[in-house]
Amino acid sequence: MKRRKTINVKVGSVVIGSNSPVVIQSMTKVHTTDIARCIKQINQLVESGCQLVRIAVPTSADTAAFAKIVQKVKVPLIADIHFSPQRAIEAIEAGAAKIRINPGNIKNRSDILRIIDAAKLNRTAIRVGVNEASIRDLKKKDIPQTKRVALMLSEMKKYIRIFEGRRFNQIVLSAKSSDTVRTIEINRLLAETFDYPIHIGLTHAGLPQDAQIPSAVAIGTLLAEGIGDTIRVSVAGEPVKEVEIAKQILISLKMLENKGPEIIVCPTCGRAEVNVVKLAEKIKKLMKDVPKPLNIAVMGCIVNGPGEAKDADLAVCAAKGKAFLYLRGQKLAVVKESEILTELKKYLNKL
Ligand code: SF4
Repeated sequence: MKRRKTINVKVGSVVIGSNSPVVIQSMTKVHTTDIARCIKQINQLVESGCQLVRIAVPTSADTAAFAKIVQKVKVPLIADIHFSPQRAIEAIEAGAAKIRINPGNIKNRSDILRIIDAAKLNRTAIRVGVNEASIRDLKKKDIPQTKRVALMLSEMKKYIRIFEGRRFNQIVLSAKSSDTVRTIEINRLLAETFDYPIHIGLTHAGLPQDAQIPSAVAIGTLLAEGIGDTIRVSVAGEPVKEVEIAKQILISLKMLENKGPEIIVCPTCGRAEVNVVKLAEKIKKLMKDVPKPLNIAVMGCIVNGPGEAKDADLAVCAAKGKAFLYLRGQKLAVVKESEILTELKKYLNKL
């Protein structure tokens, strides 16, 4: 997929920009002063595939905790700053690889310049994150969509001018909204206007079951247009879920290699000869630890099953009381329904 050309922004050991793969990030969801839990969550995120972790630092006790956490983890950390320029400087000096500031709540020019100078000195990148909900002029409900998007862009332009005046270019941009269409539109404008990398995602997207489709639509549409260099899927709940969804989006766009097994299941219909969902769930469990990108198809009948499953590494096509197993389109065996899992396991081991 062709990416929009950007400059490179160094965030510790990670580079964000069009020359690097899209970076997955997430955020811790425990109090930063609870250092042990925070480190545990960071390690879980890294294990699940997260490459940058953001941490909230609302108080000086949090930046003090941040300084200790930075020493104990390998992943570059981002400090999330709101309202307080002092917190930004403390986080930079504590070793943040990047900080996120919000033009909606740090507005004083001399404060912004102090932050930029500290970032320059410590080689810290800065995300300028415009958030629709924090722009005063956008708090009224009846503002038309085009005006909303234009106001977000103008807020970003004003802010970026200060950075450029100070000759600081280690900037990542983001403009977030909880509205999918507005998120797509404002990011298209950012991409047309600037050559800095863009962080994309919806804000306040909701519970995982409600958030994943709007997030996938917004992030997927932009990535398919070449826009977006780092992504965060915001969902309420466990942060690892955010990383799982982000990886699914990237895998489905072929922007990330799928290293584990993939299960393809027919939607089932009146021809199904077996409880397809139950069988698929059991097979999914069986394949959980397979360390290979194998495709397994589970089909409810032999009418369309073999044809639909011909691209799979292994396919199970159910018939009355039995199932046909296929290996890359070739019939392998006919097994009793009760023996499907045992037989499948045998062939999985061979593969
Ligand atoms: Fe229906 Fe068979 Fe297709 Fe499944 S594979 S959707 S059961 S026709």
